[in-house]
Amino acid sequence: MKKLIVANFKMNQNIEEAKAYFTKFVSLFNGERADVIICPPYISLPLASFFTRGSKIKLGAQNVSDEEQGAFTGEISADMIKAVGGEYVIIGHSERRNKFKESDKLINKKIKTSLKNGLKCILCVGESGLDKNAGKTGEVIRKQLEEDLKGLYENELESVIIAYEPIWAIGTGNNATVKDVEFVAKIIRKVILENFSEKASRDIQLLYGGSLNEKNYQALLSATGIDGGLFGGVSLKVDAFLNIANSVK
Ligand code: PEP
Repeated sequence: MKKLIVANFKMNQNIEEAKAYFTKFVSLFNGERADVIICPPYISLPLASFFTRGSKIKLGAQNVSDEEQGAFTGEISADMIKAVGGEYVIIGHSERRNKFKESDKLINKKIKTSLKNGLKCILCVGESGLDKNAGKTGEVIRKQLEEDLKGLYENELESVIIAYEPIWAIGTGNNATVKDVEFVAKIIRKVILENFSEKASRDIQLLYGGSLNEKNYQALLSATGIDGGLFGGVSLKVDAFLNIANSVK
C-alpha cells in the first residue's frame, strides 16, 4: 500500500516562493509510492490549487476556525478552505496547543466543524518530554484522543487521520525511535478500538511526525502500525521532499 506523506510548511514561504516550489514539485512528483498532502499557509492555497489541478497532490490548511461564519476577525472557516481547493486540515498541532493555548475542547469543536463542512482532519497528538520521562506517554495520548474525538460517529472517523507527533521531537532533530513509534501506534489503535470499533482501529491511518529527514524516514515510516509521515522542516526543501515522496517504501 502507498504511504501517506504530509507536508506542513508552517509560517514559511511567500507567494513567489510557493510558486517556484509547486511548479517544481508538480512536474517531478511521480505519485507511484506515496499519496501526498501539502499544507502551505492559507494565503498560498489558491495558487497551490491552481498548480496542482489535475495532479495527484492534495492540499490542506494548517488550522481552521471552530466557527462556521461571522464576526471572528482574522479567522478562516472550513468552507473557505474548501472553496480554494483544500481537502484537509491539520488540527491540534502542538504549536497551536502550546503557543496558541488551544484546548482539547476547542480541538474537538474544530474537528466537528471541519467534518460538517466536508474537510478531512489530520489530528495531531503527542506528549511532552516531561510526560515521556515521567512514563506518562500512554496516559497523555489517551486523554487527547478521547477528548478530541468525543461525540464523533464512527463513519466520521473515516475522514480523520491521526498523527503521532511527540512534542520533544518536533523541530529538534531528536526523532522518536521505531520502538517509541510502534508503542504509541498500538496505544492509539487500542483507544480507537475501545471508543469506536475493531474496524475503525484497523482502518484509521496513523502518521508519525517529528524531525523526519532523508536519513530516517524509511525506517520510521516502516514502523508497524504506521501508514505515513508528517514532515515539517524538511518539506520546505523541495528536492529533499521530492526524493522522499518519490522513493518512500
Ligand atoms: C511538524 O511541525 O509537524 C513537524 C513534524 O516538524 P519537523 O518535521 O520540523 O519536526
